[in-house]
Amino acid sequence: MSDFLELLKEFGEVECDIPLSTMTTLRIGGPASYVVYPEDSVSLDALMCLITKHKMPYKVIGKGSNLLCSDKPFHGVVIRLDRFDHYFFMEDTLVAQAGCSIIALAYQAMKNGLSGLEFASGIPATVGGVTFMNAGAYRSSISDVIDGVFIYRNGRYEWLDNRECEFGYRSSIFQRHPDWIIAAVRIRLSPSDTSEIRELMESRRERRMNSQPLNYPSAGSVFRNPDDIPAWKLIEGIGFRGKRIGDAMVSEKHVNFIVNAGNASAEDFLTLVNEIKDQVEQKYQVRLHMEVEKFNW
Ligand SMILES: Cc1cc2nc3c(=O)[nH]c(=O)nc-3n(C[C@H](O)[C@H](O)[C@H](O)COP(=O)(O)OP(=O)(O)OC[C@H]3O[C@@H](n4cnc5c(N)ncnc54)[C@H](O)[C@@H]3O)c2cc1C
Repeated sequence: MSDFLELLKEFGEVECDIPLSTMTTLRIGGPASYVVYPEDSVSLDALMCLITKHKMPYKVIGKGSNLLCSDKPFHGVVIRLDRFDHYFFMEDTLVAQAGCSIIALAYQAMKNGLSGLEFASGIPATVGGVTFMNAGAYRSSISDVIDGVFIYRNGRYEWLDNRECEFGYRSSIFQRHPDWIIAAVRIRLSPSDTSEIRELMESRRERRMNSQPLNYPSAGSVFRNPDDIPAWKLIEGIGFRGKRIGDAMVSEKHVNFIVNAGNASAEDFLTLVNEIKDQVEQKYQVRLHMEVEKFNW
């Protein structure tokens, strides 16, 4: 394996035995054998050839804000696109590499008098992660503004247009092809008044601060909203506000958030999730589905 490590180092910085808990907003997860930061798209291509040749499992992790990683070791390669942080504006079009922070881009767009990313200004995620999840808020989602996605698949880079990404509610074609890598996106924005955009972003920031437990580690909303009722009403209905298993706790502030109130294990978190699912189903005959992704179980 040390030969493999030496080869990995050709393509960017490499770290060994790094706890996934340090790479996820929930602060949960066992150690990953290798974490690689490819320098650019050519290094990423070479890295993928090496990984394929050695049949190593791999996972791209953005800001880890939608991941519940198990406590066991991940014997594979975590790919971090932190070096893919370049972006530029061409009139009302924004082209951004996958590792860019969507919050930083929303603020940059606001400064340039461009509207369309206000909804994303409180989502602690990368461009790659929001595209994979079709993340959204306030009835908008990233698919409303995405014009194209630059992907790496089967040893090649190519652009997909919006339609080809098959976006739906918190879903995209990328979830069905976890081997593809999002390298960049092209976003279409519309000219607007900077102070109006700033006001909207400020009011939404305040709304988040007032409604979300941002002082605890979490992965945002745990469950997808069923078609006709928000998940939080069902969780409230079974009386689970503040319910705790180990250090995993249903937030007092927002019941669709499960927070890590100390040293929660992945097992604590999942046991609480399953208890919620079962009790909601018993009482309402609705089966909740997790929006947070389980990794390495
Ligand atoms: C406090 C808080 C608030 C949140 N609010 C919202 C909200 O308002 N709306 C919302 O939709 N979500 C929200 N979330 C959830 C989360 O931020 C989103 O799901 C986000 O899209 C995840 O992005 P990420 O970069 O952290 O991806 P990660 O969690 O690192 O990864 C998520 C998935 O995307 C894949 N992925 C990441 N980058 C790439 C890439 N370049 N190529 C291919 N696959 C990739 C990963 O492999 C993984 O499968 C919130 C989370 C928190 C903690």
